[in-house]
Amino acid sequence: AQANIGVVGLAAMGSNLARNLAHHGNTVAVYNRHYDRTETLMNEHGDEGKFVPAHTVEEFVASLSKPRTAIIMVKAGAPTDAVIEELANAMEPGDIIVDGGNAYFPDTIRREKEIRARGLHFVGCGVSGGEEGALNGPSMMPGGTEESWKTLGPILESIAALAEGEPCVTHIGTDGAGHFVKMVHNGIEYADMQLIAESYDLMRRGLGMSAGEIGNVFAKWNEGELNSYLIEITSEVLRQQDAKTGKPLVDVIVDHAGMKGTGTWTVQTALSLAVPVTGISEAVFARGLSSQAEQREEAAKQELAGPEQRIELAQSEREAFIEDIRQALYASKIVAYAQGFDEINAGAKEYGWNIDQAAVARIWRGGCIIRAKFLNRVSDAFESGEANISLLFARYFKDAIASAQSAWRRVVARAAENGIPVPAFSSSLSYYDGLRSDRLPAALIQGQRDLFGAHTYQRVDEPGVFHTLWAAEGRPEIKQD
Ligand code: NDP
Repeated sequence: AQANIGVVGLAAMGSNLARNLAHHGNTVAVYNRHYDRTETLMNEHGDEGKFVPAHTVEEFVASLSKPRTAIIMVKAGAPTDAVIEELANAMEPGDIIVDGGNAYFPDTIRREKEIRARGLHFVGCGVSGGEEGALNGPSMMPGGTEESWKTLGPILESIAALAEGEPCVTHIGTDGAGHFVKMVHNGIEYADMQLIAESYDLMRRGLGMSAGEIGNVFAKWNEGELNSYLIEITSEVLRQQDAKTGKPLVDVIVDHAGMKGTGTWTVQTALSLAVPVTGISEAVFARGLSSQAEQREEAAKQELAGPEQRIELAQSEREAFIEDIRQALYASKIVAYAQGFDEINAGAKEYGWNIDQAAVARIWRGGCIIRAKFLNRVSDAFESGEANISLLFARYFKDAIASAQSAWRRVVARAAENGIPVPAFSSSLSYYDGLRSDRLPAALIQGQRDLFGAHTYQRVDEPGVFHTLWAAEGRPEIKQD
């Protein structure tokens, strides 16, 4: 036994993670089902650190020092189950199997239970940052036992991204907690991207600006409170020219947004926990609508009625409107994060995890796709206890929305008037207004439910459960003033 850590699965993510581990002084056992990937890694990068290549799982396990620790980086689903089974058969009680793939958290809960019953540790670890992050420092969200964290923690800390000198990894909680938090991270990422896309659309179609001009606007926004990786790459994408046609690249890309499923999981889970994650849901549905080719083609043929999808403004008003869009983006982003953290909170309650939300915000400051300056404020808000009920009640964010809300309303109103879809902007604003309402029309819904289904209701002036006999003869008329 010579290696202190192993990696199974040497496609893009696994080989980069193995290299990152080796760069930080670890001796890394490496194994892949087909040896050619192992060979490629050794040929191209074998001199970057200490690797121990293996041809078989047995050889791989034998090369690890105890407690043996192996990170799996293979396709999610059945391939992950197959690799876990092979490893568990070759390992001994006390050893640690880490799944670094994008597993669905209920699978992680199940796997942890099965592996624990065999005396081994199982850690479901969310890894964010894509291939680049895996190589140079990802943000990592491991679940699992405290005991496994003692061995694994220092290794992960050695390769994680650094944010203000702190490694972007923390022990999230038991069993599926890490993959749950990674799932919500991805959901927030969907919302973030959709909000940016809506901002772009308002400038592009709405104000008729060029892709390059908008790229410059995003670059400027990146210098302020919106500073983040996603805003930065947006300006890069928008300034990119297509080599073939000379047009902005964004104009030759088919406008059907793809997805791999983590956003959908976030929404499905939120629905089952009854947490309104409206920003994330609208982002997932907007990708869905973009990919409904048949409906969109038919809609074009039918020339569905609506305004010109252009916002006519005097030259003197345009700058102010662009600033309104920036503020609408910021306010909607705060709502999306508040909702995402609500989901983490609800998940923690449902599954018995003790999740430190401030720590989650801190490890998202570097390495991952949603890394952003404002996560410092988010972690402060949780740290101080001001965000215990919702991020929206922490003074900093409450004030931020208070000063942005008029701009936010102007943007949503103009977008609606001019037929430019802003599902995430507008649903976030509606959520905010719903939250701050003294009375919601839910009272009427309770009345309807009681009438058609005797579902009962509660009264504002008396405890208990009530049902009205709705028969016409027993219904007193409301007096008109
Ligand atoms: P892929 O998801 O493309 O998976 C390829 C790897 O899985 C290869 O090593 C392949 O081995 C192995 N594999 C597939 N089926 C089996 C099987 N039945 N038994 C054993 N091994 C199998 O690789 P990526 O590197 O893109 O991603 C790895 C994991 O990381 C995935 O779960 C992914 O969701 C996750 N992830 C990916 C990110 C990304 O940006 N790409 C970001 C964060 C997480 P072989 O070479 O023998 O075919």
